[in-house]
Amino acid sequence: MSPQVAFQIVAYDIRTFGDPVLTSVAEQVENIDGKIVRLSQAMLQAMYQAPGLGLAAPQIGVQKQIFVYDVDGEPVTLLNPRIVESRGEWVYDEGCLSIPGLYVEMLRPKEVLLEAVDLGGNTIQIEADELLARLFQHELDHLNGVLMFERMTPDQREEALTEYKRIADGGTSEGETRHIGLK
Ligand code: ZN
Repeated sequence: MSPQVAFQIVAYDIRTFGDPVLTSVAEQVENIDGKIVRLSQAMLQAMYQAPGLGLAAPQIGVQKQIFVYDVDGEPVTLLNPRIVESRGEWVYDEGCLSIPGLYVEMLRPKEVLLEAVDLGGNTIQIEADELLARLFQHELDHLNGVLMFERMTPDQREEALTEYKRIADGGTSEGETRHIGLK
């Protein structure tokens, strides 16, 4: 084994629906140490590889309140996030790296004010609208052990579970996606 291996970021697999880590509540980050910094780097690597716009720690099997995202070429890591305010309504075709192949149209608040801690330990607030606001709500759900299925209407949930099972069983060709409209 070459000595460089020790300095490489450990590669993680993205956990998918059915893995119990995705339905448990993540713990607060108390200390921002080297482990947390390395974890955030590994999360970003997994997110870019997927590829996805956002990733929460439970999605790589770590029960910590951390999520990463990149919507405009700027990687961001946030710790212990909470939504302080939300307003409006917005429908968006939401997908999840842990539920691959499925996109479901969902209604959620359009704007949110998120409060979180950055890797420097500073408490920050971010005003987000539309896509970024949706991303925040989606990643925050992951940290609370909530998956998209819980946000769907009962009809959508039934259809989504059937479709997801079909996709997971190889019933579709590689890379095929299924969209479920709002009903
Ligand atoms: Zn997700």
